[in-house]
Amino acid sequence: MEWKCSHCGYTLTADTPPEECPSCKHKCEFLNVTCYIPECGDTGSDKRL
Ligand SMILES: [Zn+2]
Repeated sequence: MEWKCSHCGYTLTADTPPEECPSCKHKCEFLNVTCYIPECGDTGSDKRL
């Protein structure tokens, strides 16, 4: 799973998102961007993220 911090945009790969963002040190909401990364294939052309 690929997660993106909604606060600073930091992305990381993990089974579950961390409670605290390792980049901005906030308890951010992590968005699941697994299917938005090019490697996913299905929505590789999605440029929103
Ligand atoms: Zn963050």
